[in-house]
Amino acid sequence: MPGAAPWLTPEHDAFRKALRTVVERELAPHADEWEAAGIFPREIFALMGKLGYLGLRFSPDYGGAGLDFWYTLILAEELVKCGSVGTAVGLLAHMEFALSVIDARGTPEQKTEYLAPAIRGEKIAAIGITEPGAGSDVGAIRTTARRTGGDWVINGAKTFITNGTRADFLSLLARTGDPGPRGLSVIIFPTDTKGFRVGKALRKMGAHASDTAELFFDECPVPLRNLVGEEGRGFGYVMDHFKGERLVLSGLALGVMERLWQEGTRYAGERQVFGKPLGQFQAWRHRLADARTTIEAARQLTYWACERLNRDGPDASLAVSMAKLFTAEHVKRVANEVFQLHGGYGYIEESPICRLYRDVAGFTIGAGTSEVMREIIAREAQL
Ligand SMILES: Cc1cc2nc3c(=O)[nH]c(=O)nc-3n(C[C@H](O)[C@H](O)[C@H](O)COP(=O)(O)OP(=O)(O)OC[C@H]3O[C@@H](n4cnc5c(N)ncnc54)[C@H](O)[C@@H]3O)c2cc1C
Repeated sequence: MPGAAPWLTPEHDAFRKALRTVVERELAPHADEWEAAGIFPREIFALMGKLGYLGLRFSPDYGGAGLDFWYTLILAEELVKCGSVGTAVGLLAHMEFALSVIDARGTPEQKTEYLAPAIRGEKIAAIGITEPGAGSDVGAIRTTARRTGGDWVINGAKTFITNGTRADFLSLLARTGDPGPRGLSVIIFPTDTKGFRVGKALRKMGAHASDTAELFFDECPVPLRNLVGEEGRGFGYVMDHFKGERLVLSGLALGVMERLWQEGTRYAGERQVFGKPLGQFQAWRHRLADARTTIEAARQLTYWACERLNRDGPDASLAVSMAKLFTAEHVKRVANEVFQLHGGYGYIEESPICRLYRDVAGFTIGAGTSEVMREIIAREAQL
């Protein structure tokens, strides 16, 4: 929504407008096909790279555009309107979730070898944090990286990894030291390494076009130079990087809410019951008014958090956690209202509401659950 916040400039609005054209022309016509196939084509990374969308806030020295976070947020909001939440999630997991830590902490050699081709969309990236026994409790990670001669030797398993079936490399969080958060490091892991195996592609409730996989590491040698930043600082790096990932989730939720609004108001105007359109019944006018109010509240909270992130960087934790919590919880409520409005039609696969209703379920889990957001907010409020 152009001009929806005092911080948005004419440049941000022009970027959104141009992006909408790309989304409508290049992505939306294929959304149904990709969701049904359970994956979107690899060429879409190359296309988005060529158009400059995969390096928006990264260093211009490696092909990025060095822009503020607003552009990434707008990208999330608009991409998801293509009709395939999975495609938006796959592209953003590559760009923001996996690459931001390399852009922020990587060596010039790492950026040349991994960041630059990923910004061009030639290499696909994934972030490897979650394990079967460690999700919210990141400090409990058990995948190890043992220093042997000139290599790290990796052993363990990761799960729920977006882009996991086809990533060329991972930004991997592994244990290089003692138990607890201080023993963790980020290592760039090329997936053609000996001993690496992709398990089954996990069948998800929603966001079907993004592939999600289990990954296994058996004595995998990775050069010592692939350590990102300092050894033992990985937990802190990942916590910093989560701020961007969480704000992207808020942007995705905002985009979905706008789609739900469009579908809901269209249907309320078209569907006749008892001789008049649904939208003329006060019950539905009020429920839709509540939905619109929720969407605007979500937008203002997210935009405020984006401004804080631009200004204060990692110190924006409170604002970002509030935005993630609010948008993730409320996109589900808006989806529930619009689903109910559609009666039986919302329950049928062909209806866009059916898919969106499933897609939004993951928003309160991915990038930190609602309970984890509440813990952060409570801690910041010194409760
Ligand atoms: C679609 C999808 C894509 C994903 N992509 C990636 C990816 O690319 N890379 C990656 O590394 N991970 C990825 N994840 C994993 C995601 O980050 C984790 O699922 C999430 O962090 C939660 O971890 P968990 O599933 O192990 O749940 P758990 O941590 O086991 O949590 C279970 C429940 O306990 C609650 N809980 C946890 N701690 C507390 C607490 N302190 N107080 C109260 N309640 C608590 C949680 O909120 C939740 O309700 C993805 C997940 C999904 C669903």
